[in-house]
Order: sequence, then C-alpha cells, then structure tokens
Amino acid sequence: MKRTVLEIVLALAMVGAAAFGYMSWKQSQGSKLAIEELTKASEEATAKIEEAEKSAKAASEELETMSKESEAAAAKASQFDAVKAGLASGATLADLEAAYKKEKNLSPERLIGLATLRMLTKGAEDPGTIEAYKKALALADWSNRKNTICAAQIGLAATGEKVDVMADCLPKGSPKMAEGHSKDDGHADHSKEEAKGKGDPAAKDNGHGKKEDAHAKKDEHAADEHAKDGEKTAEKPAEKHATPHWDYEGDMGPARWVKEFPTCGKGQKQSPLNIKGPFVKQRVDLAPSYKPGPLTMLNNGHTIQVNIPAGSKLRIDGIAYDLLQFHFHRPSEEQIDGKPMAMVAHFVHKSADGKLAVIGVLLKEGNENPNIKTLWANLPAGEGPPVDVPDVTFNPASLLPKELDFWSYEGSLTTPPCTEGVRFFILRTPVNISKEQVNAFPFKLNARPVQPQNNREITIGLAPADVNWLGDVLAQAMPAHARAAVEAVEAL
Ligand SMILES: [Zn+2]
Repeated sequence: MKRTVLEIVLALAMVGAAAFGYMSWKQSQGSKLAIEELTKASEEATAKIEEAEKSAKAASEELETMSKESEAAAAKASQFDAVKAGLASGATLADLEAAYKKEKNLSPERLIGLATLRMLTKGAEDPGTIEAYKKALALADWSNRKNTICAAQIGLAATGEKVDVMADCLPKGSPKMAEGHSKDDGHADHSKEEAKGKGDPAAKDNGHGKKEDAHAKKDEHAADEHAKDGEKTAEKPAEKHATPHWDYEGDMGPARWVKEFPTCGKGQKQSPLNIKGPFVKQRVDLAPSYKPGPLTMLNNGHTIQVNIPAGSKLRIDGIAYDLLQFHFHRPSEEQIDGKPMAMVAHFVHKSADGKLAVIGVLLKEGNENPNIKTLWANLPAGEGPPVDVPDVTFNPASLLPKELDFWSYEGSLTTPPCTEGVRFFILRTPVNISKEQVNAFPFKLNARPVQPQNNREITIGLAPADVNWLGDVLAQAMPAHARAAVEAVEAL
C-alpha cells in the first residue's frame, strides 16, 4: 500500500516536471487536489529503500507513457501545485536521496525522479536540481533514451537552464518551448560538481536490466558512462525504456535512422567521411597521454567497447579531453579514397565543457596484433553491461601507431542520435590486425556508410608523436606519488 502511494507521488512528480515546462506557455489552473492526501503520501514516502526503488521504476514507466500522451500530461498540469505542497516537507526527497546514496549508478530515469523531487521540494533554482537534470540528460543522451531525454530537457528548461528542447518532445501543436536563460555558473563549474561525484553512483545497479534493451546502449554513446565518476568505470543497466532499436542493416538500417533521430538524416556535418584530397594543411598539437589501467569491456549490441578509468587524456592544442572509451567498427567507417580498412578503433574523448573528440585508428589486415589479442581473449560472452576483467591491465596507448599524423574534420557521432560537434582525427598510419582477429570480432558489419562532405574541409596535420611516447614511458616509470602530483597539477 505504501508502495502504491509512493508510486503515485513519484508519478505525479514526473508529471510535475513536464507540467512545469508547459506552464511557460500554458497557465496552470488552480489546484483543487486534496493536500492532506499528498502530505500523507510524503510521510509514507520515507519508507524502505526497496519501495523507493520500485516506485522510481514505476514512475519512470509512467513517464514513458506520459511522454507519449503529452496532451494528457498537460491536462494534469493543475496537479503540480498539489504535489509541490505535498512534498514541501522535504522528507520524501531526503528519503529518496538516502536510498540512492547507496547506488553507484543511478539510471537517468532515477536521476530525473530525483531532480523532479528536488525541484518540487527545493525549487527550480536549486543547483542540485539542475545538476541532477543535467546528469540525467547526459546519460539519457548517450544511451539514446528518447523519452528520458525529453523529460530531462523539459525539466532543465523549467529550471531556467539554456537547453534546446527537441521538437519531438513537445506536444503536438504546441509552440516551441521557450529556451531558458543561461546561468552565470558556467559549464566549468558544473563539471566540477560532477567530478566531485556527489550523488554519483556508488553501488551496483544492474539488477533491472532486460536483455532486449541492452540494444539501447551504444557506441559513442555508452561512452559517457565511465567518466561521470572520476574513479571507476560506471556500469549502467540496460533498463526498460522505449528506445527504438536501430541497426546497420535491414529495416532499422542507417537509411531509416532519420525516422527516430532527425539529425542522422538532416545534419550537414555527419560522420564518417570518405577521406580524399585536396587537404588543407593544419597545425594541431595532438597529444594523447593514455595510461594503463584495469580492463573493463562491454558488448553493447552494436560494438565491443572498452571503458577507460579516469586519468587517460588527450590534449588538443593544450585543451584537455578525457579518454572515455574506445570501440571498434568492422569494416572501418572511414574510407580512404573510397576504400574502407579492415576495421577501425574509435577513441572517444570529452573535454570539461562537454566537447567531443574522436581519434580513429585504422586497423589494416596484416600481422597479429598482440594488444587486440589481449582484448579479444577477454570479450564479454554476449550483449550486456560492462564486465570488469580481473587481473588484466591494459594501456590504450598500445593501440596507437607511433606516428600521429592525421586527417581531421568536424563530424558527428556515427550512431544515433548522430549528434554533431564531434572533432575527428583519423590517424594516417594504420596498425595491424590479423585476418583471424578480424574474423573473431563478434560483429560482421557495424559501420555506418560514409556521409556527404558538404562544405567541410578535411585537414591534414602532424602531431609530435615522440613526445607522447616519452610521456607514456615517463608516466609508467614515475612513482605513484609523483604521478599523483602531476595529475593534481594537470587538474588545475
Ligand atoms: Zn565509433
């Protein structure tokens, strides 16, 4: 019974998030709901952790339904004030936060639930509210959960943050959601907050996964999972959600991605490209400094991905990007003069202000690659959440060629939602992979076709390779305390 009540409260909280957004264009009607009932619900909500979890799950399901029936959600807008009153004591929020504190990885749906409760309890201006919505959005975005993305965007807009609410998120016939105004606390501050790891997942959260939904994780997307928490690779369960499946062939193949993910079809700076001249010469200081660390791998249904613990960086003209993950495509997505290579490894990096940069390492059929051998020997048995491989240390730098000459262009994620603003550096020197190793890769085809170049330049550049290698050697030889000091300085 308690559970049911809490479910209702959380569900209403979800409605509230959507409703709050709608209120910017549609006036709320006076609430007549019984406040006592909600107050009671708020007290009940201080119940057990399991109940809170179940309820949050139910709420997220409710959210999905609601996103589909946004008209209905708008009709419920008047309940918002009642919910707010019911939660004003803060007990519900405190309880939920306590329940979630034990968890290492909150799903984006739970983060939204939390953010919404915060908004209801502490107000839209509360930094914790905004942070939770932002985190939810980042996670949902990477895992491609459209309804959750919508909820987070609407929630963020309601807090006054500047966010583009996708047209698909708005009810039919409604005016475009007013964009929030940007706050003074810039991105940098925000990412520091994230780095602090407050509210960051701390325990396992993989009990809710449903096999078929593992499809939702993907490629560049699943990327982001690691680095939310500064220390360990995050695990995110493949939870129930309404994400459409997509694939590299057939009914859900690349030509159809546009149906659910407009940018994939309408974007003008999509990846991958066929790399052909003329090239524009460009001087870019491309300086990876990757570090050895424990090996964590996953099969996300679209690729094999290695999640990287915090500490491996790429500097592009002095600006630091964290290496989040690398993953593979077969054949290479990029073509060189119209021809793909056997495979490519994409190293996905993200800067403190959220910019993405990908280094592509082309894999050419030839001798066996001992580092690929290490990876392939530890392939996850099947599609699922990340798996920590015990007793194996892996250095991502071992997959880079010594020469870091590159072709570069502005592109996009090569998987839905094909978000643009990703800087690509395709290394001109391929590394070897044997035919047997190519055949042992579990995906026969997981490459998006090349995209129109449109008005983009492809540049050609050099990077100071020797310096990087020296850096790696030094990093490995350095005593731990010295390395810690260097990292502390780097973090400044
Ligand atoms: Zn990729």
